[in-house]
Amino acid sequence: MKKTLRDVDVEGKKVLVRVDFNVPLDKNGRVADDTRIRGALPTIQYLLDHGARPILMSHLGRPRGQVVESLRMGPVGKRLQKLLSYPVVYVREIVGPGVKKAVEENPKAIILLENLRFHPGERENLPELSRQMARLADVYVNDAFGTSHRAHASTVGVAAYLPALMGLLMEKELETLGGLLEDPARPFVVLLGGNKVSDKLGVIDSFLEIADTILTGGGMCFTLIKSMGLEIGQSVVEEDQLRQITSVLKKARKKGVKIVVPSDFMIADRFDKKANHKLVPAESIPPDWMGLDVGPVTVEKYCTFIKEAKTVFWNGPMGVFEWHAFSKGTRGIANCIADTEAVSVVGGGDSDAALRQFDLEDKMDFVSTGGGAAMRLLEGKKLPAVEALMDG
Ligand code: ADP
Ligand code: MG
Repeated sequence: MKKTLRDVDVEGKKVLVRVDFNVPLDKNGRVADDTRIRGALPTIQYLLDHGARPILMSHLGRPRGQVVESLRMGPVGKRLQKLLSYPVVYVREIVGPGVKKAVEENPKAIILLENLRFHPGERENLPELSRQMARLADVYVNDAFGTSHRAHASTVGVAAYLPALMGLLMEKELETLGGLLEDPARPFVVLLGGNKVSDKLGVIDSFLEIADTILTGGGMCFTLIKSMGLEIGQSVVEEDQLRQITSVLKKARKKGVKIVVPSDFMIADRFDKKANHKLVPAESIPPDWMGLDVGPVTVEKYCTFIKEAKTVFWNGPMGVFEWHAFSKGTRGIANCIADTEAVSVVGGGDSDAALRQFDLEDKMDFVSTGGGAAMRLLEGKKLPAVEALMDG
C-alpha cells in the first residue's frame, strides 16, 4: 500500500495536489456538472483542517499544449470557492515566479493553478516542468484517480521530487476497486455490457479468477453469442475476437464461473434513434435486424442474480441507453442494483452517465471517478501515477 496524506504531518506545509477537475462546461463556460470537484473536497478539507496550504492543479478538456481561452480554470475556481466557502485564488499560470508570488501573498487561500494541458510538457512528462512544479510546495498529493493510468508531469514526474502521497479519493478508489479482486463478499456478481468485447477481455480475465457469475449485455455480448453458434443478425460483432472468446468460455468452465448471456433483446431494423423496434427471444434475431438492448426477460433473470449477490460490480450499459427506445434494459438493471442489499460498485464513463440519466447515482455504494483507470486497475495492471507514490 502507498502512503496517504494521513501518514504525514502537513501542518504549515504547502501541499501541491493533483486533482481531477476535468469537468464538463456549459455553453456559457460555466461548470455544468461539479461531481468531480466534489470528489476532491474531502482531501482539500482535510488539508485545511490540518493547517496545510493547498495548491491545486488539474487539466481541463483537450487544449493540446497551448492556451485555449475557453478552457481556463477560472470557472472551476469559482465553483470550488462556492462549494467550500473558503477563498480560492486562481493563478493564470502553471509554474514560475508568478505562481510563487501568489502563494506567498495569499497564505489564507487555496491556490488553483492554470489548466495543466496548456503546457506541452505536461503530457510529455517533461522533467523540467515537474521540477518547477515541485519547487512550489513541500509535499505532493495525488487525488486524481481518473488520470492515474497516464504518466504525465503532474502525475508521475513531479512525484520524484517531493514526498508523494495518495489523497483520500485516490485511496478510496484503490481500496474499493482493488478490494473487488481480493476478497469480495460472495456471491460476487459482475455485470458487463458496453460496446466492444475487446475492451473488456482484460477485466473478464481478472474476474474469472474471483467472480461467481458474469452477466453480459450491451454490444459486447453478441461476439459471445456468435461464438456459441447463434444467429445475431446485424448486431455489433468483433469477428477477430471469436477465437479469444472461445478460450475465455473454456476457462470459465474450468474455473466454475458462470457466464450468462441475454435471453431476449430489443432489436432494431437499423442503427438509429427512430428505428423500428421489437422484442424477440435471443435465438430469433432476423438476419437484417440488430440487438440494441436487452429485453425484460433478461432484466428479470439478471435481477435474480443481483438480488442474491453480496457484491455487485457493473461496467458497461446493457444497451444503447442514450436512445429512449433502447434504454429500458440498462434502466431496469440499474434499478435492481439500486435495490439490492449487495455492495454495489460501478465503473466506466458511460455507465456513470447512464446512472445520472436515471438519477440513480446516489443509490450505488461506490461509483468510480475513473473510467479508463478503473478498467486498468481491474485488469490487474499497474497504474503509473500510483506506482510513483511513496510506499507506506
Ligand atoms: P463504459 O464507458 O461504461 O465502460 P463502454 O464505453 O464500454 O461503457 O460502452 C458504452 C457504449 O456502448 C454506449 O455508448 C452504448 O450506446 C453502447 N452500446 C451498448 N449496447 C450496445 C449495442 N447493443 N449495440 C451497439 N452499441 C451498444
Ligand atoms: Mg465508454
